[in-house]
Amino acid sequence: MSKAKFNLKVYSERCKDCGICFEFCPKNNLKPGKDGAPEMIDPEACTGCKLCEYLCPDFAIQVWKDKPEEKEEQKEKGKSSR
Ligand code: SF4
Ligand code: SF4
Repeated sequence: MSKAKFNLKVYSERCKDCGICFEFCPKNNLKPGKDGAPEMIDPEACTGCKLCEYLCPDFAIQVWKDKPEEKEEQKEKGKSSR
């Protein structure tokens, strides 16, 4: 079974580089990118807790899960065609 991966979207125009998200990520999985806005270090290490999203005072972060189920569904469809 493949492990869920999480995506991080940062609206860097809203980010003021306050560092809250880096400090509070329980997995220590965020680092400042080139422009100071956060980047994920390892998408597989993210638990999807969304703490970074909830704590960002500027609503600059969004976290969402990839949906491996969709890929599985497509595979199933492929199998059913004879
Ligand atoms: S908490 Fe929000 S504003 Fe602060 S560094 Fe992270 S993304 Fe930027
Ligand atoms: S969702 Fe949670 S684990 Fe993932 S980067 Fe944000 S704070 Fe860290």
